[in-house]
Amino acid sequence: MDIHEHQAKALLADFGVPVPDGGLAFSPEQAVYHARRLGLPVVVKAQVHAGGRGAAGGVKFCRTEAEVAALATGLLGKRLVTKQTDAQGKPVHRVWVEAATNIAQELYLGLVLDRKSERIMIVASREGGIEIEDLAEQRPEALLRMVIDPAVGLTDFGSRELAFGLGLKGAQVAQMGQVLRGCYRAFRDRDAIMVEINPLVITGAGDLVALDAKMSFDTNALFRRPEVAALRDPGQEDPREDAAAEHGLSYVGLDGDIGCIINGAGLAMASMDMIQLAGGKPANFLDIGGGASPERVVAAFRTVLADGNVSVVLVNIFAGINRCDWVAKGVVQAYRELGLTLPVVVRLAGTNVEEGRAIIASSGLPLISADTLAEAAAAAVRARPRMAA
Ligand code: GDP
Ligand code: MN
Repeated sequence: MDIHEHQAKALLADFGVPVPDGGLAFSPEQAVYHARRLGLPVVVKAQVHAGGRGAAGGVKFCRTEAEVAALATGLLGKRLVTKQTDAQGKPVHRVWVEAATNIAQELYLGLVLDRKSERIMIVASREGGIEIEDLAEQRPEALLRMVIDPAVGLTDFGSRELAFGLGLKGAQVAQMGQVLRGCYRAFRDRDAIMVEINPLVITGAGDLVALDAKMSFDTNALFRRPEVAALRDPGQEDPREDAAAEHGLSYVGLDGDIGCIINGAGLAMASMDMIQLAGGKPANFLDIGGGASPERVVAAFRTVLADGNVSVVLVNIFAGINRCDWVAKGVVQAYRELGLTLPVVVRLAGTNVEEGRAIIASSGLPLISADTLAEAAAAAVRARPRMAA
């Protein structure tokens, strides 16, 4: 789960990371109010769950109240398309108004969960401001990396080594220690999976300040981090994925037209491959999980059909923990309850498969049965209504 820049800054500030003063605005009037309170000039920043805002016009320096009002008016209620969003962009419902900082140098600082070492890794560079992926590709030697041993934690020695590696001097070394400690503790104590400060700047006065902040969290840990869960902004998320999560379904929206209801992430991936191989395009990834009740199957249908592009549904269940008869009941129930008219291909295998197939066959509904995954994928591709030329 991602959060907004202003939320990440507030969270990191609680852990001692220095950030500029700012205020959150949902209207141009509020933006002007904060600009007046903070003192001009200010920087107005669109709050969306994506980076690359600067280059897309979502971060602007303002010298007058009129500029603040005009910029906020231009951003609020619109969608911001950046290099990191899709073509639709993300909606801007709030802007962050921040006291302008005099920048002498931009550094990069990131903390990620390194899967290889299974530890938190700190990545830092003297060359901040540009995207880390570009930096890693163009000038990998400009990146400093440090893997933290969880039994020891981040040591002062480690912090100093990074600070010296970045060419910091005097009081900056201790300030870097404070920034690193704050980021590390925030990461560890809030179950984050990513903290990125890009840029971390050296001000004209020589101090370190986090000018941007990005954080992502482990969704599987949100149950024990209510203060983090409260920061969620569903407006920034795919509404289709949002509804699915409420029913305990893992759903990822895609841009094809074959809706998928599958059990198990591996089978779901394989089914999407088979659809592609048969010449079709999946509309989604959906894992209904184990022990799917008929109600859950109905919820899965609702989720998949909320996507207006879906023209056929493929149900593929290999029942181990699941029961084919339950899934079949769910399919029949969904077909009737939701008043379906589009073709539905059903492939069942595993526990209670005979009962399941009997329910499908005797339903009197135009359900298409398939025995194997390949047959099911091919049947789904064939069953698509012909597009008008
Ligand atoms: P991003 O493009 O979404 O990563 O947004 P950032 O918050 O990183 O802002 C983009 C760029 O705007 C930064 O790299 C800075 O160069 C610039 N910027 C942001 N805040 C200030 C500020 O207070 N003063 C100045 N001079 N530049 C700023
Ligand atoms: Mn940035």
